[in-house]
Amino acid sequence: MVENITKLKVKLLQAGCCYGQENIVLKGGRFKRIKFPALVGVFQHPKHGVILFDTGYTKRFAEETNSLPNKLFAWMLPHEVAPHQTALAQVQNMGFSASDVKYIIVSHFHADHVCGLSDFPEATIVCSKDAYANIRDIDERKALQQGVLTGLIPEDLEQRVWLYDGDERVKSMAYRPFKKVHDLFGDGSIVLFPLPGHQTGQIGALVQSEKEPMFLIADACWLSKAYKEMIMPSSLTKFLISDFKAYEDTLDKLNQFYRLYPDIPMIPSHCLETINRFG
Ligand SMILES: [Zn+2]
Repeated sequence: MVENITKLKVKLLQAGCCYGQENIVLKGGRFKRIKFPALVGVFQHPKHGVILFDTGYTKRFAEETNSLPNKLFAWMLPHEVAPHQTALAQVQNMGFSASDVKYIIVSHFHADHVCGLSDFPEATIVCSKDAYANIRDIDERKALQQGVLTGLIPEDLEQRVWLYDGDERVKSMAYRPFKKVHDLFGDGSIVLFPLPGHQTGQIGALVQSEKEPMFLIADACWLSKAYKEMIMPSSLTKFLISDFKAYEDTLDKLNQFYRLYPDIPMIPSHCLETINRFG
């Protein structure tokens, strides 16, 4: 562990949202349509500039899903994003330009996490080796089955990517119960965690904010109640989840982490209540 941890200014944004049934994401949940915001984390690092965690929705989602077969995706997950809600518009509103964003941590390549990647052409894209291998050279049909819209992936991804677990600088750290956890800048400010299951190679980030550390857990579950009470989603989500067994294993690790470190907020990317509480 690092002795003098660098603290970051952290802001949690909501870049659009989609709607779905609670009982789909929580087995035994209410038969109620709820709002799932698309989280974007903005971290200001004193040495490494502005860093984003995912990029949420932009109008590219509608453009990429305006005809079949991609349209099926938009029907299944109705979404909303106003121009002022995109990650770029909100980052500019904070006083930064697109080129101030030096890194984007991509938790996974589902469309609602990567719509804004092309708005930050100078940023290095941080993702896991497995996530990159999964979407590199993927064909359109296979991509759609996995919730990936290939038109949202920047064409120069290969030149811009930095691979976690595929780079000799990656050193494993202990952070029970997770293994192969990586300190991104070696200063303790952002630690990357493997959270496989929801999609191949998904990662989360433990961020040292000035106020308190917080753990962004991406789509390892949709609502906080899931890791707190160890509630799996409905089996109807199986078509969305790349590895159901790995999903359960990751959720179990998050449940253990929650019990070991109860003071660290754990924030799923689509849990409105948790994002509002800590954003
Ligand atoms: Zn998502």
